[in-house]
Amino acid sequence: FAAFAAGAPLHDIRQGLRACPDIERALSRLNVGRGGPRDLAVIRDGLRQAATLRGILEGRGGDTLNPLPEGIRAALSALGHHAALVGRLDEALGPDLPLLARDGGFIRGGYHAALDELRTLRDESRRVIAALELRYRDETRIAGLKIRHNNVLGYYIEVTAAQADPMLRPPLAATFLHRQTMAGAVRFGSVELSELETRIREAAERALALELQLFDDLVGEVAARAPEIAQAAGGLAELDVATALAALAVECRHVRPRVDMSRAFRIEGGRHPVVEAALAARGDTPFVANACDLSAEEGGRPLWLLTGPNMAGKSTFLRQNALIAILAQIGAYVPADSAHIGVVDRLFSRVGAADDLARGRSTFMVEMVETAAILNQAGPHALVILDEIGRGTATFDGLSIAWATLEHLHAVNCCRALFATHYHELTALAETLPGLANHTMRVKEWQGDVVFLHEVAAGAADRSYGIQVARLAGLPASVTARAHVVLEALERDGGGRRTASIVDDLPLFSAVARPAPAGAATAGPSVVEQAVADLNPDDLTPREALEALYRLKGLTRPAD
Ligand code: ATP
Repeated sequence: FAAFAAGAPLHDIRQGLRACPDIERALSRLNVGRGGPRDLAVIRDGLRQAATLRGILEGRGGDTLNPLPEGIRAALSALGHHAALVGRLDEALGPDLPLLARDGGFIRGGYHAALDELRTLRDESRRVIAALELRYRDETRIAGLKIRHNNVLGYYIEVTAAQADPMLRPPLAATFLHRQTMAGAVRFGSVELSELETRIREAAERALALELQLFDDLVGEVAARAPEIAQAAGGLAELDVATALAALAVECRHVRPRVDMSRAFRIEGGRHPVVEAALAARGDTPFVANACDLSAEEGGRPLWLLTGPNMAGKSTFLRQNALIAILAQIGAYVPADSAHIGVVDRLFSRVGAADDLARGRSTFMVEMVETAAILNQAGPHALVILDEIGRGTATFDGLSIAWATLEHLHAVNCCRALFATHYHELTALAETLPGLANHTMRVKEWQGDVVFLHEVAAGAADRSYGIQVARLAGLPASVTARAHVVLEALERDGGGRRTASIVDDLPLFSAVARPAPAGAATAGPSVVEQAVADLNPDDLTPREALEALYRLKGLTRPAD
């Protein structure tokens, strides 16, 4: 399908598909007897559109791919030929279609002679009513007399209360039968009117019954061709997927991957399609492409241990490679400069924090259950991405689990895997595990801040810059400052001493105290401090004390 990317008719086909209604939905509604006239119209329009698309693909009216790729040829033949049904529906259905068949009025005039006759009768009768109204006005000399209709009374004659009197007395009372007196109006019936009403109702009922029968006939015709219509809908869906992927490949510079039965996984200039699009939409700095080589050939290192600061792009890198594998294997082009992928028989991912409390699983439990599934099931052709294993438990427990997991992946699963972690201790394993390679996300430090380069490079990160990232996220300055102090103490100690003794060494609340304003440390006592120092409370009368208080208050008032 992806070969389609080069084809000239891509734009036309996308346009054509856009005008294609949901045939499958309409067909299933009609099949279960819940469809209406609009569903018939959807079938008609969808099949007509399918014929247009067939024309484009066959090269009528312009360029096409020559020869057509095999998958497209299959989709083309699934579109089928439905001209007769489309023609029939076109003739039968009128321009304004109600939702429900029982509302009637959807069969086009001229389609069925008997229906046209009944409709004429019905409409004629309405004209006769109008004539009768005029005649009654003449006879009664009541200009405001009206013939109206409602669902309770049917047709009736209505005059205002003031005009009703002559109609209630002979001779008019012989013709007009009193039916209802309202606050401002009086309503009458007449034999002639009720006969006319019966004729109108019967004509309308017969017209509707006939219309419903014609509707059923049309539904029957559609049902008889249901398998072919469903096939056409399937063909349209396949064209949609193929052309959508092709358009994506063209717009987003995707390339054709090489997929074979090897255990290669060599991506040059790989990108995450969604993050890349999001960055572009925000007008941010462009996505940084990264290579990944997990090829499990002789001398290859199929296991990558990825370290690097928070926010550096580790998760993105893991997911982009998994996505590239999936895209390649569904037959799509991939967001990379080049890609060679040995078929992945199973893709495992353990990313993000989730819990399943209702089923009795904590966040850590879910993490472990998923890791267990990977370690028990991943084989040599699998691709595994593991994001931060062992984070939900005590540091050393987590580190040990991550350590053992990595060894197991290397020795037992022998799969291609990306393993992101903040346990920098794990990087030492690269010296003993020949299939393990250390990689890190590059960052630069600039004026105490971290700058994320989003580049994957060989090597190991020495730290995670967690506190800097926390500051970027808006943690109170006092908290990040205190965290720095704690971190320094922990690092000085190498993590070997008990925390209790580190706690003893740390100056209590030192960082929590409000930071002094810049420059205050060297500027000496402030004006307020000086004024307070100059006061001697024992020498003050109550009144002077109050005045001193106001003075001090005045000193602290911010300048306007
Ligand atoms: P943590 O360790 O905190 O989970 P992380 O290293 O996994 O962080 P990601 O979540 O992958 O980091 O990325 C953070 C953000 O960085 C992304 O939301 C994205 O906006 C940006 N980013 C990631 N990779 C790239 C890239 N290659 N090019 C440009 N921006 C990127």
